Amino acid sequence: MPTLHDPLIIVTDLDGSLLDHHTYRWQPAKSWLKRLQQQAIPLIICSSKTAAEIIPLQQQLGIANTPFIAENGALVQTYTPHGEPERHYTGKRYHDIHHHLMRLQQRSFHFTAFADLSTEEMARITGLTPHNAAQAQMREASEALIWRDSEAQFHHFTRLLAAKGLTVIQGGRFWHVMDQQSNKGAALTWLLSHLQQRHNTVFTTIGLGDSPNDAPMLEHVDFAVIIKGYSQSPVILQRQDREHAYRTTQYGPDGWCEGLDYFISAE
Ligand SMILES: [Mg+2]
Repeated sequence: MPTLHDPLIIVTDLDGSLLDHHTYRWQPAKSWLKRLQQQAIPLIICSSKTAAEIIPLQQQLGIANTPFIAENGALVQTYTPHGEPERHYTGKRYHDIHHHLMRLQQRSFHFTAFADLSTEEMARITGLTPHNAAQAQMREASEALIWRDSEAQFHHFTRLLAAKGLTVIQGGRFWHVMDQQSNKGAALTWLLSHLQQRHNTVFTTIGLGDSPNDAPMLEHVDFAVIIKGYSQSPVILQRQDREHAYRTTQYGPDGWCEGLDYFISAE
């Protein structure tokens, strides 16, 4: 088991993991966040949220100007040695994706994309404040949508997207359309090799997530915490090292703390 004195990196999903699924509160994890900060252990957000949503949240969490993964792995932000932010996109950009989706809407597939919603509608559906809802709409390399059609149509829809190099994955609340090459695992692999080179250190990684879209990330970390969640589909991992994967009994930030308590030994 790792200790707080090892070269650790914590990689975390937000919604339903560090943030409560209903209230978006992270405060139950405050004491663990403080401990990580005291030991200078990097906390890497790896979320379906946009960069515009993640950056102010990082400030609240006391981890401003540190690397993160946004939009389910479609976007990675790192910093130069001089502290300037650098954006890396792992596949198609928003304009392209939106264009394909509009064409499918015209072919009478019924769905509501984030771009189709006013900020007020977004706020009502997500429970976010209008300010935060607007940040959720500032997408750079993926689109989120609510499916309003049959299951048969959905299969047809995913096949047509696949022909354009796009994929649809399930998040906690919405479906996310993005490049087939992009996912949380691929983004994390890229970011870890970047950080290991930069710091000339091999890090031990602990990942935390609650939904199927976290699975590629949870396959790539040394220790995986599957937080109890509300998702319809379970998180299924292929990894065989059972003792390196833990399912929490608690939801959200309480489960987040439970997972770190489980894997990080006090000494
Ligand atoms: Mg989640």
